[in-house]
Amino acid sequence: MTLTLSINDAQRLPLAPLAAPTRLLLGPGPSNAHPDVLAAMSQTPVGHLDPAFLQLMDEIQAQLRYVWQTENQLTIAVSGTGTAAMEATLANTVEPGDVVLVGVAGYFGNRLVDMAGRYGADVRSITKSWGQVFSLEELRTALETHRPAILALVHAETSTGARQPLEGVGDLCREFDCLLLLDTVTSLGGVPIFLDEWKVDLAYSCSQKGLGCSPGASPFTMGPRAITKMQQRKTKVANWYLDMNLLGKYWGSDRVYHHTAPINLYYGLREALRLIGEEGLANCWQRHQKNVEYLWQSLEEIGLTPHVEREFRLPTLTTVRIPEGVDGKAIARQLLNEHNIEVGGGLGELAGKVWRVGLMGYNSRPESVDRLVAALKQVLP
Ligand code: PLP
Repeated sequence: MTLTLSINDAQRLPLAPLAAPTRLLLGPGPSNAHPDVLAAMSQTPVGHLDPAFLQLMDEIQAQLRYVWQTENQLTIAVSGTGTAAMEATLANTVEPGDVVLVGVAGYFGNRLVDMAGRYGADVRSITKSWGQVFSLEELRTALETHRPAILALVHAETSTGARQPLEGVGDLCREFDCLLLLDTVTSLGGVPIFLDEWKVDLAYSCSQKGLGCSPGASPFTMGPRAITKMQQRKTKVANWYLDMNLLGKYWGSDRVYHHTAPINLYYGLREALRLIGEEGLANCWQRHQKNVEYLWQSLEEIGLTPHVEREFRLPTLTTVRIPEGVDGKAIARQLLNEHNIEVGGGLGELAGKVWRVGLMGYNSRPESVDRLVAALKQVLP
């Protein structure tokens, strides 16, 4: 082969094969994938229309319905991280001018506000200080005032560690004829969710937290009321990649090519969901609750206090107050560099005030707590 142009080698690095550090990921996510999930992901990929793969997609759909406790037919994994699945919920249902009411009590509520606005929604928000949750009465008043087409709430606000109670919210939304959209990114697999009982119309999640997989294949589900709204649109869904009219034909019986699925990630997700099925959902939720209670007790023994009131604390993510005079960033850096443990820092209102400690999926184990607390004892002044 004769080349007429000379190759520029300036960006060519003499790289050694990858040797990623082995961290214990106890931050807000990702958490460590289960070893069986990593093994599944290293199996040889098949084609994305191979009958074996199509069967695997069906299995993923069924198991997602199980972990979410829903009968929604349109339940799939979106190729992309949780944000892509979040975007899918809004892209498919919001039409320009629709009033979308968002409960903002942390960072991810704000992301919903920004995103809904980009799809032309008339976005309204109700706010709470970070770490608090909305009462049913507050939600009723907001629905009366704003009369939205969609109410969007974050079930598990990862920036604060607070769990938004959902009991009664779905009934309220039916009363006001609006859809209920729920972010379950930090709750799916680790926090009890009864999507159909709670009358949630649209929900999304991620693979890298409570499900114990790697990031990139994100659960999405849409119930009959949301599908009706999508079908009655006057405008096309403004996002081709996330249009459920098209994607539904790949995941449904038509099996029409839409995009090349990230095969190995779906191998991982299928294995992660299989493991939850084997453990049983109730056991899985109980394990998360038991281990987080052990974390709270262990932290309190070394003088550290969770930020959120006990009743509303998440089993998956705890915000821990940084004691007066302690440099939170320096401690997190030491945990990473000296102990290979990742914890998160605070965001927004809680920046510099808390660490965020996740016990999610495979990492929700007493050993994770023991390792973290032993390391904290060494690095705290
Ligand atoms: N929503 C919540 C509550 C989250 O915690 C996150 C990420 O941590 C997201 C949405 C976005 O998910 P991803 O980072 O996977 O895109």
